Amino acid sequence: MSRYLGSVCKLCHREKEKLFLKGEKCSTNCTFERKRGKNGRGQHSFAKTKASDYAKHLREKQKARRVYGLTEEQFSHYYKIAEKMKGSTGDNLIKLLELRLDNVVYRLGLASSKKMARQIVNHGNVLVNEKKIDVPRYQLKIGDVVTIPEKYKANVVIKKLIEKTTSNVPTWLSFDKNKIVGKIVGSPLVAEISHSINSQLIVEYYSK
Ligand code: SF4
Repeated sequence: MSRYLGSVCKLCHREKEKLFLKGEKCSTNCTFERKRGKNGRGQHSFAKTKASDYAKHLREKQKARRVYGLTEEQFSHYYKIAEKMKGSTGDNLIKLLELRLDNVVYRLGLASSKKMARQIVNHGNVLVNEKKIDVPRYQLKIGDVVTIPEKYKANVVIKKLIEKTTSNVPTWLSFDKNKIVGKIVGSPLVAEISHSINSQLIVEYYSK
């Protein structure tokens, strides 16, 4: 199945949750907040609908897939790898997704959305251990160093993003704002991902 090309805001409405797919606009001009209010429940929140078990599992898988911007095939490929790894399949899945190069570029604050992170990587503007890597799915590991080429450091958009970057990167990453150098210093912690993805529901979805 090909990548979704429609309005990304529709995906947030579909999942009934802000998925932060549009970069800065998500904090300044969010259609989801305008329609549903900050808590995402809208005016008729009291009219609860009871989702079936299958729908609950499906929605969790879809939410995670959308957060990481993956097609069905890509997502199920990660699931199969996670299943073969030692430990909890759900945790393994999230760790694999978090360690994608485009995701790490986003987490370091070098891009305002995952889509922008993918573009930066695709355009050859990311170095891993001083080597250009232009594959967004590239899997990073502990000890890898992520930075951008010297010429790209002068890019106006990047400069603005770096200025805004706080030291709030997840604990499994380190980031030197002055040198624009990030490092994987540990294994991604599932509790630290910004979206409340229940990986157990995803495991149950694939186990049916
Ligand atoms: Fe979702 Fe961002 Fe669009 Fe809001 S602006 S609906 S968070 S993609």
